[in-house]
Amino acid sequence: MQSIVFRVTLLAGTWLLLAACDSGNDNPAPANAAQSGGGPGGSGGISAGGASGSSTQGGVAGAAGSSSLGCLVGDAANAVALPTLPGAGDLPAPSGTDANLRVLPWAGFGSAITYTFDDTQPSQIDHWAELKAEGVRMTFYANPSQTWYAGYNTTWQDAIAQGSEIGNHTWSHCHANLTCDNNQKPLATVDQEIDQCSTYITTTLGQSGVWTFASPYGETAYKPYLQGRFFLNRGVGSGMIAPGGTTDPLNLPIIGAAGGEAASAFNGRIDTARTQGQWAIFLFHSILPTSNNWYAGVDIASITGSIQYAKGLGDVWIDTLVNVGAYWLGQRAFEAAAPVTANGTTTWSWSLPTCFPPGHFLRVTVDGGTLSQNGQELVWDGHGYYAVALDAGSLTWAP
Ligand SMILES: [Zn+2]
Repeated sequence: MQSIVFRVTLLAGTWLLLAACDSGNDNPAPANAAQSGGGPGGSGGISAGGASGSSTQGGVAGAAGSSSLGCLVGDAANAVALPTLPGAGDLPAPSGTDANLRVLPWAGFGSAITYTFDDTQPSQIDHWAELKAEGVRMTFYANPSQTWYAGYNTTWQDAIAQGSEIGNHTWSHCHANLTCDNNQKPLATVDQEIDQCSTYITTTLGQSGVWTFASPYGETAYKPYLQGRFFLNRGVGSGMIAPGGTTDPLNLPIIGAAGGEAASAFNGRIDTARTQGQWAIFLFHSILPTSNNWYAGVDIASITGSIQYAKGLGDVWIDTLVNVGAYWLGQRAFEAAAPVTANGTTTWSWSLPTCFPPGHFLRVTVDGGTLSQNGQELVWDGHGYYAVALDAGSLTWAP
């Protein structure tokens, strides 16, 4: 457990920056950067109430909270569409019998990668243009008490416009017991720490909802506060995620960058995810070169090199935590439903987890038959699937 102390003098005064962040098994280290003393971008003007996002599902208060904003799931129209599968898109519709319905894991790509970056650090802002140039969606976990760095709002607004996700990493990046390693003064309650962050994301940054959380330090003590707010929490334990399976949605494992890796190190993990048909969530902190190497800095070329490697494989789905996670949990919900057959028609009915984002789909294949939702026949996609709307909650299949 070590922390590196940087002192940075700015026009506004002296800022004490403590390095490091989300410790996992691989990276036991504390803290995050913060300002000492009230400077620009403190907590001015943000209140815990009045988020613009709508709560259309769930709405269960956090376990410890009396003032939870509930689920800020946004609306279906703002959901990001699944990417197009490779191929000409001219595969014929199946014409056999109504047998062998199967959900395509990872939207038909076979494996998935999510690039996550924590703490909305200055070096991420400085390197956003290079990340954006790769043309893939990513997830950034924000601590909006860090808005002192130039370009904070415009960078993350641009990331949202590009399709990337801003997730909640609490306002001040403190421990769940409201002690802080970083000279930061926490808000009065954990509920406020979470909700003020979400409000910043929906109001100031303008994202339509806030769907996923990353516990500071990976602390599971945050978990009771997440029920009724988020459908996924990214933890910091090492591992990958299988389709279906029993992985805890409120403690998703990661592949953490320790700092200094070449692209080949990440490429190897991508190969493993692909071979095993799994979802790998990369966790990065500082991006080099930078004068703000707070924790586990990795050269930008290693990150973009690994993205290029994954893209070049052609069958790896690279997307945000909310997008891949909705597919993963949607498949799990669908497969947990026991189909009922009556008069030759088979019906699946499922319920989605609390705070599940609207507007998401599964891709399924069959030998034949007619699939319908809400009385509407599903249309075959020549890339090899029918798209099943998870929001509909049921699917029927007739010969
Ligand atoms: Zn962090």
